[in-house]
Amino acid sequence: MSDTVSPKIRSRMMAGIRGKDTKPEILVRHLLHERGFRYRLHRKDLPGKPDIVLPKYSAVVFVNGCFWHGHDCRFFKLPGTRTEWWAAKLEQNRSRDRKNVGQLRDAGWRVLIVWECAMRDPGSIPPDTLGARISTWLKSRNGMKEIRGGELP
Ligand SMILES: [Zn+2]
Repeated sequence: MSDTVSPKIRSRMMAGIRGKDTKPEILVRHLLHERGFRYRLHRKDLPGKPDIVLPKYSAVVFVNGCFWHGHDCRFFKLPGTRTEWWAAKLEQNRSRDRKNVGQLRDAGWRVLIVWECAMRDPGSIPPDTLGARISTWLKSRNGMKEIRGGELP
């Protein structure tokens, strides 16, 4: 099995998630809001500028695109051109993410990462289930959690 993808699929992966106010992020905000959680967005003074911050729960939420954050999942494939450059770039992103999470944890924040694949078919988590899982974690005392989509058979 090749671990590269065509330019067409690659551009689709890259269009998926980049920057603020992406579709998956808006979905997570919606799920929080309808469950009564109040939050702030993109606090620039915190490591990694978390997408969503819930001070009352000492919690931050990152909504991560599987390509840009180099997720080990079915949506991640190294591009077929400039492969080494991409491998280095995405490893840099991964290591920056780890560092940010470490700094947030050291500062007493709880960290939730919701991966794009949790909201993307095939294998997405139904929104109600996703909302319930996020809510349960927020109300828990667990320091760290990742939510990802199902794997393909
Ligand atoms: Zn993923």
